[in-house]
Amino acid sequence: MTNHKCEKCGGPLRTRRENVPWDALPHATLLGVEVQRCVACGNFGIVFPSMDGLIEEATRVLLDKPGRLVGAEIRFLRSLLGLDSVDLAPLLGANPSTLSRWEHDKQPIGWPSDLLLRAFVRGQRGEPVLPAKPPTDMETPWELGFEVRNGRWTAKVTGGVVPRGPAKVKIVPRPPVSTELKILRARRS
Ligand SMILES: [Zn+2]
Repeated sequence: MTNHKCEKCGGPLRTRRENVPWDALPHATLLGVEVQRCVACGNFGIVFPSMDGLIEEATRVLLDKPGRLVGAEIRFLRSLLGLDSVDLAPLLGANPSTLSRWEHDKQPIGWPSDLLLRAFVRGQRGEPVLPAKPPTDMETPWELGFEVRNGRWTAKVTGGVVPRGPAKVKIVPRPPVSTELKILRARRS
């Protein structure tokens, strides 16, 4: 059964491939996904190959991120643990208001807490909790793109963005392109 009419207004739908911001991670874009858009009212829906696959790939990328996690990434990983901030904060050696500042990019998360959070997620996934590589001190609000290749979601780093906040205005260097290669290799094994 296919939808040829808008569920909202009954108007005609147009299907095409678009790049769509992913609201779970504000700096991530879903590349070339099939979007059905109503010509009359603009209501739209995305045709997803696999939401689970997308979350899995995003998790993989965030756990291996060389730089510190930013707010949305912390929220994303916390949601995987199924903990609210009151329950998670003490496990990261913080109080809930501090965790809230991390999650809203008002204050960078401390490295020990960052590493602990990732270790918790790895542990929950039944993986070795130690990171494959030591982290770097790169402040990386990076930009990610997710696209479907050969039927599965694949992440790539599409750029760096200017860190938020008044103190820093320098452009974050683009993470090495090898990030993508590493992900692809890990996927295949
Ligand atoms: Zn409509």
